[in-house]
Amino acid sequence: MELRRTRAIKRSYRESDDDDDDRGDKKKETERDVSLLSYAERLQPIADKGLCGDAELEEEVAAVDEKARQVARLIAGSKYCVVLTGAGISTAEPASISDFRGPNGVWTCEKEGRTVPPSPRSMDDAKPTRTHEAIARLVTRGLVAHVVTQNIDALHLRAKMDVTAVPRARLSEVHGTAYALFCVACAVETRLAHMVDSIGLRPVAAVCRTCRAPLCDRLCDWDSPLPDGEINRAISELKKADLLLVVGSSMRIRPVGLWPRYTLKAGGKLVVINLQNTHLDKKSHVRIFAKSDQVFDGIMDELDFEEPTALNPPELNTRATNQIPEPVKNI
Ligand SMILES: [Zn+2]
Repeated sequence: MELRRTRAIKRSYRESDDDDDDRGDKKKETERDVSLLSYAERLQPIADKGLCGDAELEEEVAAVDEKARQVARLIAGSKYCVVLTGAGISTAEPASISDFRGPNGVWTCEKEGRTVPPSPRSMDDAKPTRTHEAIARLVTRGLVAHVVTQNIDALHLRAKMDVTAVPRARLSEVHGTAYALFCVACAVETRLAHMVDSIGLRPVAAVCRTCRAPLCDRLCDWDSPLPDGEINRAISELKKADLLLVVGSSMRIRPVGLWPRYTLKAGGKLVVINLQNTHLDKKSHVRIFAKSDQVFDGIMDELDFEEPTALNPPELNTRATNQIPEPVKNI
């Protein structure tokens, strides 16, 4: 069962497998009302957050356009393309969710004693960016087989008026999500319309409508085991990929930052689209230093996408009810 792993895989910013000594003093959840806090504020403090505020580089427009055309050709010619996304795809409008280690990222500002620039909206009101839209269209068109995301904002699953969302079955949320609850007994997932008021895979005041067992949040904290089903599927998909696009991630977070090696080891090609350096830049077939929206605009132009005319069928997002489970006391 997902929450009963004996060797839980957890996140770390370090190469070492020993993640027990890189945390600072923990605050007890009982001391804080987490419902009032952002995701970053909810996370337990850790002493070492790794490199923050690394320089962001942007290539000339013409170079980005040429590389975007090259990536489009790679996508069109691939047999099994997988996309791995990070916080960098959610920083642009109309999402405007802070990343962690960019120049104004949460960890960078914390390290420099600055206040994080305020977002114009809450995470609940964030909308998918052009990158989210493009990825969803590529999945719908059958050009991308699977999406692995480190993001907990569920923006891959949120459709806009004229754009399909990524079907849940084609998405692995490897750090969990702020927009679902999970039944520890029957493994049914209930999607939420609003950010969950909890973190750390803890029971919430609700029970499963299928089996009446307690529901837990799916929002991983530093010491939470990563969700088995999600990470096993993600690794399986990355091994199958003959083309992997890493988008908006500096790949500094472990273990997910190491997973592109599964694709490389299996002979697949790697494309990295990110403003900051990554440890796999030299292994990449195409490396683009640019904002992801700019690159995906170019990719979609090259692939000559027509505008979709219909919303995605609701059944594609299996188990995505967007309904808050009925509350129950004494859990
Ligand atoms: Zn259940």
